[in-house]
Amino acid sequence: MAGMLYLVPTPIGNLGDISIRCKKTLEEADFIAAEDTRVSLKLLNHLGIRKPLVSYYEHNKSQKGNVILDRILAGETCALVSDAGSPAISDPGEDLVKQCAEAGVTVCAIPGPCAVITALSISGQSTGRFCFEGFLSTAKKSRKEHLESLVSEQRTMIFYEAPHKLLSTLESMAEVFGADRPISLCRELTKLHEEVVRTTLGGAIALYTERAPKGEFVLVVAGAQPPEKVAFTAEDAAERVAQLMEEGLSRKDAVKQTAKELDLPKNVVYDAALNVE
Ligand code: SAM
Repeated sequence: MAGMLYLVPTPIGNLGDISIRCKKTLEEADFIAAEDTRVSLKLLNHLGIRKPLVSYYEHNKSQKGNVILDRILAGETCALVSDAGSPAISDPGEDLVKQCAEAGVTVCAIPGPCAVITALSISGQSTGRFCFEGFLSTAKKSRKEHLESLVSEQRTMIFYEAPHKLLSTLESMAEVFGADRPISLCRELTKLHEEVVRTTLGGAIALYTERAPKGEFVLVVAGAQPPEKVAFTAEDAAERVAQLMEEGLSRKDAVKQTAKELDLPKNVVYDAALNVE
């Protein structure tokens, strides 16, 4: 019988955030696939766990993915961990999950630390609807294109960012979204120097021009305001009905189309158009 793949989230700063279930899964797995075995060894030593480790990272994932899958198909259970947080979220794992799913292997994701959700929860921005945009490109042109594709995005947007790229990212964001767009900069989450700065893009640029950004950041940017609805008057409706009738539409069809176009109740348009010849 085939084994299983477990996705095991690990702390993003505070070692106390490892759950009982994650620890048990690591203890019971036949082997652990890790993004950086040296990083994971530190955690395993802290937990007192000794297990065979296999490295699985961006540049060996196609070859190692097959090796891991074969071992699972042969009956072994694999626990996948990344350096910090949830595997497969801006981290290796996505491809292995796809490979396992296609091969009919059961994949079990254990809930746990994830920077995107931790940041969103603490951001003070709307949490009802959000989109995760991961890391922006380092190339200025594609970064700008990515941001421009989000110009009318109304959901809260979440980005990962490295400190050395923070200022140029904030500048690109201010160019595209406007300097007054609210942003929460969530830094060093769950760590000793955890900090959340709730400001605007312009305010963030001013702050980090003065003080060099340090540590790991998640940027939570407010979505665009919905476009203001234009309120059409009965006069506008009568004018549009007249225009459509001139174009050959019957009064009934002109009223129907005008009501739809101007988002007005049909009876209002009908009354307004009574005297249209
Ligand atoms: N898979 C991970 C997760 O579930 O959060 C994310 C891995 S991604 C390679 C690393 C990025 O996550 C960092 O560059 C930073 O943007 C964000 N991050 C990770 N830990 C963080 C922390 N403690 N505080 C703020 N951001 C963090």
